[in-house]
Amino acid sequence: MKITEIRTYLMHAGAPSLKTWAADGSFGTQSYSKNLTGSRNWLFVKIFTDEGITGIGECSGWPRVIETAVKDLSRILVGEDPTHIERLWQKMHIAIMGHGLTGTVGAGAITGLDMALWDIKGKALGVPVWNLLGGKVRDRIRIYAHANTAEAALSLKERGFTAFKCGGVSDPVRKVAMLREAVGDEMDIAIDLHGPPWLTPADAVQVCRALEPYRMMWVEDPVAPDNLEGFRRIRQHSSVTLAAGERQATIFGERELIEDGLVDVIQPDTGRAGGITQMKKIAAMAEAHHIMMAPHSGSLGPVAEYAALHVLAAIPNGYILERIEDDWDGRAKTIVPHPVQQDGHIAVPDAPGLGVDIDEEFVARFPSEANVSIPVTEASGSYAPGTYKEHLYVQTRTRRGVYFPKD
Ligand SMILES: [Mg+2]
Repeated sequence: MKITEIRTYLMHAGAPSLKTWAADGSFGTQSYSKNLTGSRNWLFVKIFTDEGITGIGECSGWPRVIETAVKDLSRILVGEDPTHIERLWQKMHIAIMGHGLTGTVGAGAITGLDMALWDIKGKALGVPVWNLLGGKVRDRIRIYAHANTAEAALSLKERGFTAFKCGGVSDPVRKVAMLREAVGDEMDIAIDLHGPPWLTPADAVQVCRALEPYRMMWVEDPVAPDNLEGFRRIRQHSSVTLAAGERQATIFGERELIEDGLVDVIQPDTGRAGGITQMKKIAAMAEAHHIMMAPHSGSLGPVAEYAALHVLAAIPNGYILERIEDDWDGRAKTIVPHPVQQDGHIAVPDAPGLGVDIDEEFVARFPSEANVSIPVTEASGSYAPGTYKEHLYVQTRTRRGVYFPKD
């Protein structure tokens, strides 16, 4: 079998005005805006072969940029045998050496192509991708969604979810206390502090220690993702469960978080961590350190979500999958079939390959406009009044009582 052609499908992943998971107030969104000032994109890739088998993949990590990277990489894949996935992964990795080897943009491009290669291999052999990864550890994948209010959390509980995540750096401890009070002890609660340097390590230690009584599923990115020294300091001073890894890619990018035991849960993004090939390896590295994997799904589209289902089906330390459930009804229309959600779980697909394809006509109806988040505004409510124009470093150093526990 030979690769004959690779096509890209870039779309604006639209959504009405919703609260983002990062925010507390009611306002227009940062990353889902339909305006040109900021938007979320999904990039799908399709690999065609001379035997008529096609493979689908998805790249996140800055899709508008990655589309060009995929077209560059296509030049070295056409004519190759798509079943030699590891060899082609290494070929792509070396090809981007001049652009850096560990970033999420280059890895995001490799990710979609790698995913499509696994899809082709599964279809060629007539087996689902999880079967190629060693077989099933589990038949269904536990999922969590997002909630920042008691009303939203209780709605998830009623729909069968057993876990959810809240977010935002303003007053996180009181928010978690309110949510824990609302849902009781049976639901798992995580909080995402979102990484950028809003919090110093000392601030983050305060927050993490104050969150300990609430039995957190995890506290995510309490300091900037590259502030490994900050993670070490939090580790020394708090027993809270820590999670990170969404902004790193490949085994090389995730290595230190895992090997130094800086997290309890590693969160590579299935759309940009380097593909199924890397997700399986990252999971094995984490397993060796008794660390669970919970793939990130922040901007992840529906094809990458399918890939995550296959990975989580096959790894023993698969914890739970992030699910952006209520973002946009177009999510369900973008792919065929849409995964069935029941009792806070999604069944592992059994069709050959990934078991999913995109609806190309639907995707074409949403051309890409822009692909960056809007800087926050005063209306976001994410920062203390009067500070939103300040740099991130300054915002949380002003009116500190808004951000940190007072008890
Ligand atoms: Mg996050």
